[in-house]
Amino acid sequence: MRNILLLSLGVVLFLSSCCKNEEVSVEKQKTDTLLNSEHLTMATLWYQKAAEVQAIYLQNFNLAKMLVEKNIKKDRLKIKKRKPKAIITDIDETILNNSPYTSSLILNGTSYKKDSWAKWVNKKRAKALPGAVDFCNFAKEKGIEIFYVSNRSAKSTDVTIENLKNEGFPFADKEHMFLKTKTSDKTERRNKILENFDVILYLGDNLRDFDETFAHRGDDFGFGITHENKETFGTKFIVFPNPMYGEWEKGFYNGDFSLPDTIKRKMRKDALIK
Ligand SMILES: [Mg+2]
Repeated sequence: MRNILLLSLGVVLFLSSCCKNEEVSVEKQKTDTLLNSEHLTMATLWYQKAAEVQAIYLQNFNLAKMLVEKNIKKDRLKIKKRKPKAIITDIDETILNNSPYTSSLILNGTSYKKDSWAKWVNKKRAKALPGAVDFCNFAKEKGIEIFYVSNRSAKSTDVTIENLKNEGFPFADKEHMFLKTKTSDKTERRNKILENFDVILYLGDNLRDFDETFAHRGDDFGFGITHENKETFGTKFIVFPNPMYGEWEKGFYNGDFSLPDTIKRKMRKDALIK
């Protein structure tokens, strides 16, 4: 009888310890999953809540206005008629704010996926960034056309046009929309516009929005090529802040975004300057 009682007690203790282990492992898995995107919390909060970010956008569009005016003034002195003027702008995190999509990744502990991104884009909820609508309409008044060259999928053309229109952007039509069909390299799309227009300014949050050379970051994170082109920033290329994602991450993921989240977490820590 005593043996039976001891055996039963053992079974109960064993089962309860199993349940506890399972609970701990589920909890650990949950924490691990949340950690995969936790690094984006401060980046997203800075982008959404820092008045400094608002000021950077306003500052950049003020600068863009001054450059447009300077360019027009310079051309008045020339007799030779040139091609009509245009501005090429990226869309995401340059003129439209998609940070609520990143918030959803953080809260669900997931990372960027094509499907979830497409769902967000289809909602047409992205808001204009500070100064963007005002600047694009200012350029239009000055007789300058705006071309939207973005790596949103070409399948999203209609919803993107609708989103831009709803926010008050001019030239929100198929003729001015150059979205991604096969490649993320924007060179061919930029060249197509350059055939008929004199592009006076490029706007983007990723240096690759300006020139494909910036796509190859190398061991120095692309610092060398950036410094070699220092005279283009603030004159021809206007760079906007994006701490949430971008080509810049390539430098510490060995150019491989498809690595498992746990490995990427370690690589981020290893990349810090101590
Ligand atoms: Mg962008």
